[in-house]
Amino acid sequence: MIIILHPDTDKHDPAYGKLMDYLGALPGITVRTHEVVGAQQTLTEVYLVGNTATLDASEIRSFEAVDRVVRVSREYRILGRHKEDSRPSAFDYNGVTFGQEQLHVFAGLCAVDTREHVEAMLRALRDHGQVCTRMGAYKPRTSPYSFQGHGRNCLAYVFELAGKYGIRVIAMEITHDAHIHEIREALHAAGNPTGVMLQIGTRNTQNFELLKSAGRQKEFPVLIKRGFGITLEESLNAAEYLASEGNQKVVFCLRGMKTQFGDPHRNLVDFAHVPAVKALTRMPVCIDPSHSVGSRHSAPDHIMDVFHVTAQGIVAGANMVLVDFHPDPSRALVDGPQALRLEELPWFLDDVALAREAYEKRCALQQRMEISKV
Ligand code: PEP
Ligand code: MN
Repeated sequence: MIIILHPDTDKHDPAYGKLMDYLGALPGITVRTHEVVGAQQTLTEVYLVGNTATLDASEIRSFEAVDRVVRVSREYRILGRHKEDSRPSAFDYNGVTFGQEQLHVFAGLCAVDTREHVEAMLRALRDHGQVCTRMGAYKPRTSPYSFQGHGRNCLAYVFELAGKYGIRVIAMEITHDAHIHEIREALHAAGNPTGVMLQIGTRNTQNFELLKSAGRQKEFPVLIKRGFGITLEESLNAAEYLASEGNQKVVFCLRGMKTQFGDPHRNLVDFAHVPAVKALTRMPVCIDPSHSVGSRHSAPDHIMDVFHVTAQGIVAGANMVLVDFHPDPSRALVDGPQALRLEELPWFLDDVALAREAYEKRCALQQRMEISKV
């Protein structure tokens, strides 16, 4: 059960104390409070964990501090979408709003290699009106002998250049909790010219200690990739770990599943789950067409599969696209074969806009049909 208090409820208010005394005395129930700090107001949510079936919601609702009571009908208590649950699902970070209504493209380098390539990428993004990117500094590699990423050594110039080109949010994978600290320090040293969305990669979806660390901090939002060999439910529970530790600024990313049945794609593209995740949870849903397809292969219509699956995800309502680009894919140190070229950026963005328009028209059509049914 989730109890939502009136906005800006003060913890020193007697009404708050009265409610907490009552809840604290409920047998077999654990009480956890979460503060959701928004641009306009702070919301306090109280989670009751345990056997809540016998609790009387109307009695709880009668407390002065209480605005609403939501009975949690499924798992994913915090991030889930529950009946009569009108909690806001969008969040703001560094001037960018992320929600199930929005769409943002995060085009960028799979792995940072040189300062020149970072600058060329960011300049192209600025020239095409983009304020988000992806930049891999810490790379989880299958082979210990492969390039592992420049790590903290590249952070200073990545953040400085992001500031120079007006980039507001960089999706950056972390593979260890120490990386959160390194990113925070480097951002601070550079004068906070940009923002970072911490990325949990598919190989770490169930690294629970890493999830707890990323969830305990509230400074950076988190992009969590679906585990490539586990069920959707298991991956959504992994996302819930982040929220249960206190960070509700979470985006869920589909990136394909590891199976031979996906051939000839690198992974079996799972973007049909975009609406499923939006129905089960309140998280914005990201798609990663690059790691799903894994090549620049194109169909007889000469449209690359990366473009095709991106459009499919967006037509289904995706809210974010994480996509690999590189100024010179033949020299990329990681995933060059799947990278798009900078001159393809305006084409990609136009294709994204077309698909988004189709999605918006589909939503409008659905609304017209609903109205005509009444
Ligand atoms: C990545 O986005 O760079 C990456 C390694 O993706 P994934 O974790 O989905 O393999
Ligand atoms: Mn990659």
